[in-house]
Amino acid sequence: MGFDTFLGNPQAVTAVREMLASSRVPGALLFAGPDGVGKKTLALMLAKALVCEHGPLDFCGQCARCRKAEQMFAAAREDLARRREVKETARRVEGLVYFDLQLLEPLTKFILTEQIRQLRAVSYTRPFELPYRVFILDDAQTIHWQAVDLLLKVLEEPPETTSFVLVCPNAYELRSTIRSRCLRVPFQPVDEPLIQDLLAREKNLTKPQQALAARVSAGSVARARAFDAAEYERRRKPWLDFLEATARCSAPGVAPDWRLVFDSARALAENRDAFEETLRIGYALLADLLHVLLEPAAGAVVNVDVQPRLKGWAAKLNLAGIETLKAGLDQAYRLQIRNVNPQLGFETLGIEVISGRKSGPR
Ligand SMILES: [Zn+2]
Repeated sequence: MGFDTFLGNPQAVTAVREMLASSRVPGALLFAGPDGVGKKTLALMLAKALVCEHGPLDFCGQCARCRKAEQMFAAAREDLARRREVKETARRVEGLVYFDLQLLEPLTKFILTEQIRQLRAVSYTRPFELPYRVFILDDAQTIHWQAVDLLLKVLEEPPETTSFVLVCPNAYELRSTIRSRCLRVPFQPVDEPLIQDLLAREKNLTKPQQALAARVSAGSVARARAFDAAEYERRRKPWLDFLEATARCSAPGVAPDWRLVFDSARALAENRDAFEETLRIGYALLADLLHVLLEPAAGAVVNVDVQPRLKGWAAKLNLAGIETLKAGLDQAYRLQIRNVNPQLGFETLGIEVISGRKSGPR
């Protein structure tokens, strides 16, 4: 338990611990940085340290107050989930009850005015059960514009026993008046070796899968934890087939494998619900092809486990082929928005790349 269990972002952890050590935790904090790196987790830890019986330099996770804190956040999460299920937006904010430690998240596309109004009303009363009050506003960039002034008033003169932690990916998405009221704690993507360690500890992956997972996670602990190797490989498979099919006929006398072109095109167009994810993987593969073609020394390839195959395809497809594929993916993306089945698009793309390679002098 305690801050030592937090992964990555040592500067952010140090900043928080120094605030606690100086017993001057600001009334308004802003945790800003990419998704999935632990901003909210650190905010929860800060809240626990502020109330822990063994605090405030750290928290034990065991004492009655730590357990109480855990319960309050769990109740807040459940309450948010339940309210999001309510059909009528106006009724989602009915009967809001805020605990001493409270998590606020958007109930629609926004954190609604009523949520901020309630927060303001509660923050001027004494904490009910704990010595300190912490309000964590996740996705603070979604605070409804009508509620911003209301929040600003509280942030200008936060009550003595209350801290607000605003959490958002990009500080500049917040109104400057809000931003300037908060002490900012910046977060960075988590270093790859730390992600690798996490994957080694928590996931049962082969070495190549682990390397792949670390790259796909791109510094996000949340993405690393959620990575499903079998699922990723299943989704990527038709792309690899498609690239194989379009790249293979470069050698003289090698006939195109049309069956592989059409089968992989059909597989790519399947599962329309997850088509954006399919496209994301496709774009990542094309970016990898460009990397291995143009800057072979750079370590930026995502699909590291298939790097030798990528090299072979990149050499055969060349820049022109990769560009054609990129245009094809853009087209598939547009078709998807218009709800058109992209299978035909992929088939045409395969034919285009192959015939372009067969005819055009390079
Ligand atoms: Zn404790």
